[in-house]
Amino acid sequence: MALIEFQKGGLYVPEADVYIDPWRRVKKALITHGHSDHARWGHHRYVCADSSKAILQHRLGDINIRGVPFGESFLVNGVQFTFYPAGHIVGSAQIKVEYQDEIWVVSGDYKTEDDGISGAFEPVPCDVFITESTFGLPIYTWLDQSIIFDEINQWWATNRDAGVTSILTGYTLGKAQRLLSGLDTSIGPIYTHGAIENMTKVIRSSGVPLPDTIRITPETPKKDLVGAMVVAPPSATGSPWMKRFKTVSIATASGWMQLRGARRRRSVDRGFVLSDHADWHGLNQTIEATGASKIYATHGYTDVFRRWLESKGLEAGVVKTRFEGELAEINEGSEPEEEEQP
Ligand SMILES: [Zn+2]
Repeated sequence: MALIEFQKGGLYVPEADVYIDPWRRVKKALITHGHSDHARWGHHRYVCADSSKAILQHRLGDINIRGVPFGESFLVNGVQFTFYPAGHIVGSAQIKVEYQDEIWVVSGDYKTEDDGISGAFEPVPCDVFITESTFGLPIYTWLDQSIIFDEINQWWATNRDAGVTSILTGYTLGKAQRLLSGLDTSIGPIYTHGAIENMTKVIRSSGVPLPDTIRITPETPKKDLVGAMVVAPPSATGSPWMKRFKTVSIATASGWMQLRGARRRRSVDRGFVLSDHADWHGLNQTIEATGASKIYATHGYTDVFRRWLESKGLEAGVVKTRFEGELAEINEGSEPEEEEQP
């Protein structure tokens, strides 16, 4: 019997009778992070990293949930579980599963660059590593985030000088707060879409320092928005919510902006390459650092990535899951409970 089985409902640990990020309703779910393709509603009991608890409660309402500090192990039927920072969004965790001298690690989504708010990623030595591969192609290599934030702040300052409102889009949970953390508040005020303001409030309350933001409401004077920065979910730019702005420049921040034509397809004026997932080097360095002899890729460029790992002499496989990586995250802001009227 494998320590983790790939079942219809999700990644299953039979010895402990628990699932990790299941997509069917189960009795006990360990959750890597708050994105909707990993944290679903309807499980009887949830266990997550301490810093993810408030986020899950905000998204899923009144649930039976327990938070565990990073690095603190707990036993379920003799199987030992430990959460480690995944660096993807605030509270995101890798989950280490240990039983009878065998160690498996489920990465969830992860990024190796320390963004200053999500907790620094650390590779966890293991025998079997279940990895995401959202950007598992050599064309995806990220620049240091300080370079990207310089570009974003320059774009904002230029817009401000021209009396143009800067609309910067990023998914509601994770990217939006990372963007906020990198904005230069000396340029001007930062306004937020209601969905992002609500989530940001939750994340601030868990102790993450973020700059002051102003929620946009129907009462917000139009003139106050001239030259300001507005952080909004991608879905907002195609909605009547946009009617309140005079002249705008719209930008989005995503790993997909590395692709030729991506900016045009998203109908934005600027695209900044900023992802909350590991790039090609991050994935490869991590896999090497785990020392794992067997790798499973769960989502992203799984087949190509598997063949690449096999060519390096590793045993590799692909697991079909319902995880979607940055595709799911783009739709985060369009969830009905977070939608705000224009
Ligand atoms: Zn995610």
